[in-house]
Amino acid sequence: MQRIKIKELLKGEKLGKQVKVMGWVRTFRSNRFVALNDGSTSNNMQAVVDFENFEEALLKRITTGASVSITGELVESQGKGQAFEIMVSSLEILGDSDPDEYPLQPKKHSLEFLRDIAHLRVRTNTFGAIYRIRHQMIYAVHTFFHNKGFVNVHTPIITGSDAEGAGEMFRVTSLNLENPPKTEDGKVDESKDFFGHETNLTVSGQLEGETAAMALGEIYTFGPTFRAENSNTSRHLAEFWMIEPEMAFCDLQGNMDLAEEFVKYLVSYALENCKEDLALLDKRAADEDKSKPQIERNEMGLIERLEFVATNDFERVTYTQAIEILRNSKPNKKKKFKYIIEEWGADLQSEHERFLVEKHFKKPVTLYNYPATIKAFYMRANEDNKTVAAMDVLFPGIGEIIGGSQREERLDVLKEKLAVMNIEEKDLWWYLDTRKFGTAPHSGFGLGFERMVQFITGMGNIRDVIPFPRTPGNAEF
Ligand code: ATP
Ligand code: MG
Repeated sequence: MQRIKIKELLKGEKLGKQVKVMGWVRTFRSNRFVALNDGSTSNNMQAVVDFENFEEALLKRITTGASVSITGELVESQGKGQAFEIMVSSLEILGDSDPDEYPLQPKKHSLEFLRDIAHLRVRTNTFGAIYRIRHQMIYAVHTFFHNKGFVNVHTPIITGSDAEGAGEMFRVTSLNLENPPKTEDGKVDESKDFFGHETNLTVSGQLEGETAAMALGEIYTFGPTFRAENSNTSRHLAEFWMIEPEMAFCDLQGNMDLAEEFVKYLVSYALENCKEDLALLDKRAADEDKSKPQIERNEMGLIERLEFVATNDFERVTYTQAIEILRNSKPNKKKKFKYIIEEWGADLQSEHERFLVEKHFKKPVTLYNYPATIKAFYMRANEDNKTVAAMDVLFPGIGEIIGGSQREERLDVLKEKLAVMNIEEKDLWWYLDTRKFGTAPHSGFGLGFERMVQFITGMGNIRDVIPFPRTPGNAEF
């Protein structure tokens, strides 16, 4: 007999038929009720074992974590909590799980404890739901761009360009670190390295993505990015996934419009396609909230927050307006911010972003036209010569979720900018070629995939929305 997945079985179409399921035992109650999970859904299938008809030795092996194959008739359940159950006619243990050693007990474990057993935490309801939602979001990202005619481009993971300027990079080398080849003046001889010069793990696919947009029109990347930044926060990973669309013939306005449409699409997609898993996480978040002091509690539940974001326009505010709001805000005047906003030009910290989103506007905010001095070299200079056409989308509970800009397409202006920022033209010769040959106005942005999944699942720590998080001091598994 063919195995059938629990998600399918729960539709009830096989009522009265013999079925076969395989999965992992979550609990075994009263020597009679097996709660079986096979990962297809967070819902367990109840299997009822008539213990008089089974060997005592076999029943003893039905333990939490064991994998089993069960055959029996699908019937309407007598008990509460499930519509259907299986009357077991045969049960085979596929893999034992010693209850004295198995770290996952049928009780609530802390997220910190589960991070130490990341290889097993996927077997819990919470992480099963997160993994499934993460998958749905990956699919939604590709669907959104595919439907709009964007071309997915794989940009390199090992990069020879060191001018991306988005953060500290991880060096890639095959040199013998104990005894590297040296040049005459005693420095490490990079020309002897695998690629003949210094290489790093990419921090962003944008620059290479731009070259593709200058031919294909509209492209997006969706790949791993790496930042050796020592920021031990609940929103930073050393290895994370980023989605970077890049559009020719598109200005900052069009860029902000696409960013908003995109994140709303992802949120709506989750609401539509992840109902069960979201309901589970919504309840989890509500329980967690109850244990927090009143001021730290969320005003809205998880699903409520998602619905709010999907249906309300984001607030669009210039950096200059935001500085005014922050300067006159209570926490600034009462010196409650760690970084007090004194003058125009200050870089915004997470506390300021969250004040704007959570306290002032009470909705997602798109901030734009930032001071040139705090932004990257490739962002397009505005007429005022002080600001650049940059934009960040800020989310409640998360802070920055998207960073983007209209790109500087004017060769002379770009070269001036490189000079000011001490970046050598020769290091970016290929990038400058896009401005030399058929340059065009273009724009793009980067969405941190894990921050989006964090928002959708309501998880407070980014380490809990990627299967195996990499953070300073931790690359286990
Ligand atoms: P932050 O100020 O939060 O460090 P950033 O300005 O360095 O962000 P960008 O370089 O604009 O971020 O990257 C684009 C997006 O990638 C960000 O909006 C964010 O969603 C995500 N991101 C950036 N750094 C990280 C990280 N270390 N871990 C996870 N996601 C990140
Ligand atoms: Mg950063």
